[in-house]
Amino acid sequence: MTSYETVIGLEIHIQLNTHSKIFCACKADSWGDPPNTNICPVCTGQPGVLPVPNQAVIEKGALLAAAMNSKVRAESYFDRKNYFYPDLPKGYQITQYDLAIGQGGYLDLPLEDGNSRRIQIEKMHIEEDAGKTIRKPGRRLLDFNRCGVPLVEMVTGPDLRSADEAAAFIRYLRKLVRWIGVSDADMEKGKMRFDANVSIRETGATILNPKTEIKNMNSIEHGREAIETEIQRQIKEVEAGGVIESWTLDWDEETKTLSKMRSKETEADYRYFKEPDLLAVKLGEDHIQEILASLPELPRQREERFIQEYKLSAKEAATLTSERDLSDYFEDTLQAYGAAPKTAANWVINDLLGLVNELEISLEELFLTPERLAEIIKLVDSGQINTSTGRELVRKTEENKKEPGEIVEQEGLAQLTDTSAIEVLCQQVIQASPDQVEQYRSGKKGLIGWFIGQVMAKTGGKANPQAVRETLQHLLD
Ligand SMILES: [Zn+2]
Repeated sequence: MTSYETVIGLEIHIQLNTHSKIFCACKADSWGDPPNTNICPVCTGQPGVLPVPNQAVIEKGALLAAAMNSKVRAESYFDRKNYFYPDLPKGYQITQYDLAIGQGGYLDLPLEDGNSRRIQIEKMHIEEDAGKTIRKPGRRLLDFNRCGVPLVEMVTGPDLRSADEAAAFIRYLRKLVRWIGVSDADMEKGKMRFDANVSIRETGATILNPKTEIKNMNSIEHGREAIETEIQRQIKEVEAGGVIESWTLDWDEETKTLSKMRSKETEADYRYFKEPDLLAVKLGEDHIQEILASLPELPRQREERFIQEYKLSAKEAATLTSERDLSDYFEDTLQAYGAAPKTAANWVINDLLGLVNELEISLEELFLTPERLAEIIKLVDSGQINTSTGRELVRKTEENKKEPGEIVEQEGLAQLTDTSAIEVLCQQVIQASPDQVEQYRSGKKGLIGWFIGQVMAKTGGKANPQAVRETLQHLLD
């Protein structure tokens, strides 16, 4: 049997999270608004209007280019892409063709085995979105709210080798655009969607065979499924002696099937030309440097730094850098008190994340700020409270919206460290339990745990467990 290799390239659309649209002052994010309520003569393409570029769109596009290791062009142009479709009232889309904001670039995709694969970025440009066609039986309804919503379109090289890799790429890109703050990338709301070009070839071959394009996927899992289905279809087709034709395919999530859409347009069909209503976009060297300087440390770099600098495990570092907010929270916690990184990582991963998941709130909504968590860690580290009280205190601080120190004082949670008081309690337990003492002394040393439990119960869990253990061992032995 022949073995096949899959070749996948992706085209991704990312909605930039600017306040207004790309060429007019209409609100960009109209998710959930009634149809045709965020429109004006500019974005609906009325005769005689002129587009005015939104500076924030250019800057966010440039920042994303920088994050993709693309060169930010000092001079880029808008172009007209001509096609007719009912939800494109102008009859053309303003996009960027050959001289786009980003030039070249790549993304090193972390793979599960710890290595990474370099995915080339062939094109990266800014453009406006079209409207939305809503199909009803016997008629079509048009919603122009999305007309003029700012997008970045990114085209990767044919560098991905499986449906899983394609899914991993989209997942990582989504994290990256959120991380640098240019998009919410909420796929359910259409703020990030992608097409996949899929072909197969015999393993080891270097040619590129005819490909099919799966359009408009807006879920990573469904996209992965669609690509996998298409790979299997192509293999079957080729094995049966057939040829792969360059179809455009639509994935039906309900029936899990691919169906053929219109035949694919070629670039010549779009009759691109420079947009005559807009001047060149010129970014001064200072401006470009300013944009580059605003690029934060990227997730992969931060993850590696956490391992190097804080000696965290790969798993801890990956968890803490799953979102920028979380990694900031962790570092702020460290800074607030100077706890051991490993200790702080444990508190953040186990206790803080547990609380956040349970309460279903975001980190910024928390009363338990990094400073307050640091305060709790400090109370534990200094022996003023024990670990289990500390864990309870995480929850109490959030629920009562009170300072941790205040709660410790009001509820008398301070750890019992007075050794003479602990000794008295230990003696009481020993005197009340002659059977257990007998068994312990005849060799059942494991019973020490039972004794500790008795003493801890007497103190409402507030005694220093280590001190209790030592005192008991001393008295019993
Ligand atoms: Zn408008």
